[in-house]
Amino acid sequence: MFRAVTFAIAVALTSASAGAGEPPAGPAPELTGYKAEAALKIDNMQKFTQEVVDSVFSFAELGFQEFETQRYLTSILEENGFSVEQGVSGIPTAWWATWGSGKPVIALGSDIDGIPKSSQMPGVAWRQPMIEGAPGHGEGHNSGQAVNITAALAVKEIMQRESLPGTIVLWPGVAEELVATKAWFARDGRFNGVDAVLFTHVSDNMAVGWGRPSGTGLVSVEYTFDGLAAHGAGDPWKGRSALDAVELMNVGWNYRREHLHPLQRSHYVIVDGGDQPNVVPSKATVWYFVREIEADGIRRNFATLQQIAEGAALMTDTTVTRRIVGAAYPRHFNKPIALAMDQNIRAVGLPEWTEDDQRFAKALQELMGADEITGLAVELNGVEEPREEPASGGSDDIGDVSWNVPTVTLRFPSNVDGMTFHHWSSAMAMATPIAHKGATAGAKVMAATMLDLLQDEDLLANAWRYFREEQLAGDEYVPFISKDDPPAIEKNEETMNSYREQMREFYYDPSRYDTYLEQLGIDYPQLERPTGN
Ligand SMILES: [Zn+2]
Repeated sequence: MFRAVTFAIAVALTSASAGAGEPPAGPAPELTGYKAEAALKIDNMQKFTQEVVDSVFSFAELGFQEFETQRYLTSILEENGFSVEQGVSGIPTAWWATWGSGKPVIALGSDIDGIPKSSQMPGVAWRQPMIEGAPGHGEGHNSGQAVNITAALAVKEIMQRESLPGTIVLWPGVAEELVATKAWFARDGRFNGVDAVLFTHVSDNMAVGWGRPSGTGLVSVEYTFDGLAAHGAGDPWKGRSALDAVELMNVGWNYRREHLHPLQRSHYVIVDGGDQPNVVPSKATVWYFVREIEADGIRRNFATLQQIAEGAALMTDTTVTRRIVGAAYPRHFNKPIALAMDQNIRAVGLPEWTEDDQRFAKALQELMGADEITGLAVELNGVEEPREEPASGGSDDIGDVSWNVPTVTLRFPSNVDGMTFHHWSSAMAMATPIAHKGATAGAKVMAATMLDLLQDEDLLANAWRYFREEQLAGDEYVPFISKDDPPAIEKNEETMNSYREQMREFYYDPSRYDTYLEQLGIDYPQLERPTGN
C-alpha cells in the first residue's frame, strides 16, 4: 500500500541510476547522509534531551496517574507541530500524537510510569529517598520518551526539508508496571494502519533482538469475594467471611503451584482484607499476576485460577467476581527491522563515559553487591537471536503490540548493570549524565532506523513478509482482554494523591537550573554519604 507512494519518491531520488520502468530496490542513496545529519542534530539537542529525562524523573508518577508527565510531554509535541489526541482508549493520561502525512506510518512508543516506594535521590551512591515512601523512577521509565521525541524531532526536520512522505506517531506506555494499557490500545484499533512500531526501553547496554525474547506473558486479575458481615464475637455464625475465601484461594493456588509448568511465575497481593478483626469481612479482594511463557499456558493457568476462586467461594458460602486489570501477550519481535536497527546500533556505538560516570556506576554496583564490579558497558552485546530454550522472567505489554504490527524494542544504555529492577537502586543513575548520554545514543539509533523505514522500501516489505509468513504462520493472536474490559484507570490514584503535593516541590525547573542534579545541590558523583548531620 505504501509502496505506491514511496515508489514515486524513490524513482525521483534514484532516477539517474535506475533503469526506465524498473522499480529500484534497496535504500535511497541519500540515506547515509540523512543518518549522519540526524546524528549531528541529536548531538546538538543534548540539552533538550537532558531536560526531558530530568523533568520526567522529577514527576515520578505511578501508572494511570501520569498527568504531569502527559502535560509536559504533549505540550512539547504540540509546540513542535504534532496533533495530539488526549485520553485515548478511555485512559485519561494516554495520548496519540501524530505529525506528517501518508505512508509509511512509524509509531514510536515508550513507557512513562514509575514504581511505588522507589523515591531516590539521583547521583548519590547510597539509599536516600527524596520523600520517604513516595513513588520514584525505580525502573528508569523517565528516559524513553526523551529518546523517542529527540529522534522524532530530528527526523521530522529532514522530512520537512526534503518533503519526504510519511507519518510519525508518538505514544506512551501508560501504566506499564501494571501491564494495563497496550493491549487496550491494540484492542481499540490504534495500530491499524501503522506500518512499524519502534519501542524503546531503558537498559545498561544498547541492543535489539528478534523472535521470542526471554520472559513471559501474563494476565493480571482481581478476584473480589462477597460475604456477610457480622459481629466477630457476638454472632459470628451469621457471618460469611470474604477474607476466608481469599485465604483459601491463595492456599489452593499455592498447593497447585507444584503441578504447574516450572517456567510459570505467579504472585498475588491482598488488596482488601477487611476493615477490623471484630467485623466479619463482607468484602475481600486478591490481585493475581498469572505468568507463563506461552499464550496457551497463560490461558490454562488463568482457567485453573478461576476454578480455584470458584472453589473458595463454594467453601465459604460467598460469591466471587473477577476483573481483568492488565494483560501482556508473550512478545515476538520483527527480524528484518531488528537487523536493520542492529546495524545502526553498531554505527552509533556506546556513549563515551567519563571517569566520574564509571566511578559512580562502580559505587552503585558495590552498594548492590553485584557479582562483578564492571562499571558501565564499553562493548556492545550484539543482536539477540531467539532463545533455543525458553526462559522465564518478566513481561511487557508491548507483546500485544508485537502481534498487531511489526515491532522491535531498542534497549538503550541509560542505567547501570547490576541494579535491581522495580527498586530504588534502578533510579539512582536515571537523572545523571549516564542517563542523558544513554538517551542521546538511543535517539541516534531510533532516528537512523526511522530513516531506514522511510527510505528503504524493501525493509518494510520484508518486515511485513516476516510478520505474516513467519511470525503469524504457526501462531495466532487471541487477546486476553475482551471488548468489554475497561482499563483500570483508578489504580494508584489514592497513593499518588497522598504524595503529589510533597513531590511538586521537587519538580525540575529547567529555567533556573542547568540540570536536575544542580537543582538538588548534588555534586555528581557523590560517592560517600556526608557525616555529621
Ligand atoms: Zn519497564
